[in-house]
Amino acid sequence: MIDSVDEDEPDCQYCGLTVASTDERRVVTTIEEGTAIHTHFCSDDCLAAWKS
Ligand SMILES: [Zn+2]
Repeated sequence: MIDSVDEDEPDCQYCGLTVASTDERRVVTTIEEGTAIHTHFCSDDCLAAWKS
C-alpha cells in the first residue's frame, strides 16, 4: 500500500517540517505561467525567513 502525502500533507518550504503537524500553517499562492503554485510553511517565522 502506498500513501501519497504530496497533496494532503505538504512539507514546509523552508524547514521541511510537515505542515499538517502544526496549526500555524501558512500557504502562499503564486501564479507561474498560468499555473497556481501553492507554497506551504509551518509558521509565520518560516514564511518570513523564506521571503527574506
Ligand atoms: Zn517551517
